[in-house]
Amino acid sequence: MVGGVKVGGGAPISVQSMTNTKTSNIPDTVAQINRLAELGCEIVRVAVQDMACADAIGEIKKQISIPLVADIHFNHILAIRAAEAGADKIRINPGNIGGEGKVREVAEVCARKGIPIRIGVNGGSIGKELLAKHGGLTPEAMVESACENIRLLDSNDFYDICVSVKASSVPLTIAAYKLLHAKVDYPLHLGITEAGTENMGLIKSAVGIGSLLAEGIGDTLRVSLTAPPECEVEAALMIMRALGLRKEYELISCPTCGRCEVDLIPIAREVEQRLAAHNLNISVAVMGCPVNGPGEAARADYGIACNEGAGVIFQKGKVFKKVDMSSIIDELFIAIESGEKIIERA
Ligand code: SF4
Repeated sequence: MVGGVKVGGGAPISVQSMTNTKTSNIPDTVAQINRLAELGCEIVRVAVQDMACADAIGEIKKQISIPLVADIHFNHILAIRAAEAGADKIRINPGNIGGEGKVREVAEVCARKGIPIRIGVNGGSIGKELLAKHGGLTPEAMVESACENIRLLDSNDFYDICVSVKASSVPLTIAAYKLLHAKVDYPLHLGITEAGTENMGLIKSAVGIGSLLAEGIGDTLRVSLTAPPECEVEAALMIMRALGLRKEYELISCPTCGRCEVDLIPIAREVEQRLAAHNLNISVAVMGCPVNGPGEAARADYGIACNEGAGVIFQKGKVFKKVDMSSIIDELFIAIESGEKIIERA
């Protein structure tokens, strides 16, 4: 359990993100966390780089509604202080926390507080000995680093563990998680680290995280983007929706081609924006011509099939109405509203 969120053991896959405010700036950090929570973030991580950040956790926790993970590098005292201040989970990077004794000290406090530890192995901070032993940064080196630290916590009777083996390379990350999944039974936190900007970073994350999730590997995830954290949450939810792991709307829209006689791209965009504003578990097809249009529109819960400047609205497999293109989006939503209980997002 991370606060009230179950991770692993068949629980729904949870979405995480990380704030980019100074954690010691309580108002900014709280505002960002609450924005992320509104978008669908279920667990938030904050950087704890000094004592002021660790001490801020208690006050931040009072003003947010989702569990908070304290992220610590280099200084295990910060991890201990963050746990004491009320963090719901501690993330340490064993490669830089300063050795076995310090990991053990953190585990003792976490056991007393009843909170889990994530062993967060990163490709960029694997120890020199492991790199030399494995001939460089390999899946085996990353997994051995994770397993060394799992053993260390296990040997201290600490089993409340989540593990990640992130790298910036997608094939390396996929191979490392597969290897780890075959070796350990602990919940896995997925991510492609330092994936890049909103464009390539999203593609890398979708391919890496998506491939693993599709094979049933992974229990919680963070999409790491060089972009506002709000984008990370939206990207995570999109990846999960694409795999059918989130019961939200699915938009089926044709890529358009020379047969398309209407300006479909803005129509699809607006339909998606309007769907995103509602809590609806429905599929909606937006199709540009009669080739695949009626078939897809009839198979979806609701659909638009365009033909020669006019549109046909489908509702639950049947033609609902033939309409003029000028009102096609409004007419689609009239069909949706007549068939669903519409709930506006907060
Ligand atoms: Fe082209 Fe029609 Fe297919 Fe859309 S549905 S891509 S317009 S053939």
